[in-house]
Amino acid sequence: MPSTPRKPRTESETDFQKRLRLFERKSSHSTTDHPSSIIPMIRYVQVQTHSRCNADCVFCPYIESWHAAHPGRMSETLWQKILHDLTPFASGINKGKFLPYLMQEPLIDPSIFHKIRDIYTHFPTTTVELSTNGMALTPKVVDQLLDIFGKPQHKHQIWVSHHGIDADSFEYIMKLDYAKAHQNLIHLLQRSEGRLRIRLRGLGHERNGKHSFFTPQNYRDYWRMNFAQFHINPNNVQIDAYTFHDRAGTLRREERHANQFNSGIVRKIDPENRFYCPRIDLWVHIMWEGTIRLCCMDYHGEVALPNLQNISLLDYFQSEAYHDLYAQVTGQQPSSSNFICTRCTSPGG
Ligand code: SF4
Repeated sequence: MPSTPRKPRTESETDFQKRLRLFERKSSHSTTDHPSSIIPMIRYVQVQTHSRCNADCVFCPYIESWHAAHPGRMSETLWQKILHDLTPFASGINKGKFLPYLMQEPLIDPSIFHKIRDIYTHFPTTTVELSTNGMALTPKVVDQLLDIFGKPQHKHQIWVSHHGIDADSFEYIMKLDYAKAHQNLIHLLQRSEGRLRIRLRGLGHERNGKHSFFTPQNYRDYWRMNFAQFHINPNNVQIDAYTFHDRAGTLRREERHANQFNSGIVRKIDPENRFYCPRIDLWVHIMWEGTIRLCCMDYHGEVALPNLQNISLLDYFQSEAYHDLYAQVTGQQPSSSNFICTRCTSPGG
């Protein structure tokens, strides 16, 4: 159960130092079976700095999600509190990744570059990962990306969701204007000249093999043709022809037959069928208004967790809410018959 809500508060430096010492003492223990006294060593952070996405991909639940129905942007006060709350986890985050997006489009947030700078200030050796659909990659935004990620000390990855091999497939899958998305992306690749680490992601066929919009070979051929035609430097550009899935059965709508991708229950999780997913103890996921989410599959907020406006992250990881959730995800304790992890075809995200 979530901890009792409390008024937002700011810890004094003394309180914080005490808690940090407690955390460090606990973290030096073995974590083999995750006893309740141990706080996880978070390495990966996903923060939804605002709620919106301008695409509507057929295999993405965004359009029917909780955050599409409850739009908003993270306040600067909450953003700074989250950075403060993450401080005890800095050694892990500095070796891992910080993703300033979660189930939405980051480049339509006017504060995104300010937030990326904050991330590097707090976690100088982390990798910042951005995942964009490319519609907001205007020349000005590309210049800003080059300015911040062009610095050799700023480890980064830019994932571009470009799900299509022509206007028909792209516009059916993503409901975006192909000509604009393609023009933006070619401009990014030309300006980068191999300086930015870019992953071109095309999800063309379903993980269970039942549905296909295009094959991995189609996708690689499409980019080979573009590279040749537009004289793209392929250094640091990865072509990632990958599979789509049903986001742990969270696709419910009939529009474009999206619900046909649902696989239903795919595994048992209980004391006889133990399970593990790194999203429960290597990652933390935070929504725009501060609510903690289990992971990037929980578009509808099925798993109720505390809000960081009422609790610190250290308190959360020592709370009954977290330890119950850990026990359910790993099968130490039974969960509901429709528990999200029993429907997940992509553990780990
Ligand atoms: S198994 Fe799937 S739904 Fe469960 S925590 Fe992992 S990624 Fe999320």
